[in-house]
Amino acid sequence: MVRVLVDLIERLTVEVADVRGVVRCRWCRFKTARVHDRRQLKVKDLPTQGRETTLVWVRRRFRCDECGERFWEDHPEIILGRRTHVTRRLARQVVRDVNHLSIREVCRRYGLPWHYVMRLVGRWSDLVVAARRRRRCKVLLVDETSLRRGHRYVTVLIDGETGEGLGVVKRRDAKALAGFFTQQGARWCRQVKVVVTDGSPSYRAAIRRHLPGATHVVDRFHVARWFAAGLIEVRRRVQRIGDKGSRPAFDPEIFRSRYLQLTRLDRLDVERIEKLGRVLARDPQLEAAWRMCQHLYGIHHAPDDQAANQALGAFLDTYRDSPLPEFERTITALVDWGDEIFAYHDTGRVSNGRLEGTNAKLGLLKRIAYGFVNPQHFAQRALLQMPAVATSP
Ligand SMILES: [Zn+2]
Repeated sequence: MVRVLVDLIERLTVEVADVRGVVRCRWCRFKTARVHDRRQLKVKDLPTQGRETTLVWVRRRFRCDECGERFWEDHPEIILGRRTHVTRRLARQVVRDVNHLSIREVCRRYGLPWHYVMRLVGRWSDLVVAARRRRRCKVLLVDETSLRRGHRYVTVLIDGETGEGLGVVKRRDAKALAGFFTQQGARWCRQVKVVVTDGSPSYRAAIRRHLPGATHVVDRFHVARWFAAGLIEVRRRVQRIGDKGSRPAFDPEIFRSRYLQLTRLDRLDVERIEKLGRVLARDPQLEAAWRMCQHLYGIHHAPDDQAANQALGAFLDTYRDSPLPEFERTITALVDWGDEIFAYHDTGRVSNGRLEGTNAKLGLLKRIAYGFVNPQHFAQRALLQMPAVATSP
């Protein structure tokens, strides 16, 4: 039964009541038709043609003839809260909208309190993630991100094959990761075949302990950073021409071409190669550093393990001829993380394409993250972002 109470340009209020005369007792399941009491409840609904819409639900309280207990009726389309009540279709829309709108905008759009929306989204996110976590995961991606630039770190876990977020846990140490693995259980851990992380020793410690059967790969973006670090440091040293405070302080040609120096040679056209040649000719150390960096890139872009080893050999040969101290740390990383760097070739086919998409998603997540203070709120929304939700609350 539906009756319009208020019909204004900006607001629509409709009275609704269940027409079923007979209901089952909540306690003994016996049928009853004896209405004991009635109360009006305001229920928020989806806007009707842009108008804020409220239902006034005449909720009945029944008295059971069988057991004598009293009980309030329920409605399958209404979600009752402590103070705020909404229709199921509004809840569904809210959960969809938070993927592209801020919580504040969602609240304004539907006239809902902030904490109510947060709780609704949080509960839904928990349900979605619990279901995801029960499924097996063959490729696990682990990354860290911060809620605000530089502090409050969290560890993000993603299924590399589906792109679904599996968890966002506080901190970025071995304990954080180990806690997740313990929660997932030994059976789930055994099914993980490939795990991708950055070059953090604490992540590696947790993986060796809990995922001994998985192949551990260092994320190629982090490896590229290790590879480029030596060249960047050499460039910073050789570009300085005057004393501090003099102008220009840097050789402008070397400084301005810093990104060109870091680009893979096979990505450059003839014109840019010529330009690069002129820059490198200005300093023999810069040229040696550039050569080493390109050999290092070659380790990753080699088609197989053998070609990767050739690239590593070429790098070490160049280093022997011009042992630039800036590359010492790169060599330490190569020795320490060799297995995880070279494992890229065994698993590249599995993770490469999907990693790209996931990294884009993580980038998006990081941009959203800067507005968050509460790690739990961030976790719940971030997990809903990966990927869009298809089902309903
Ligand atoms: Zn009863």
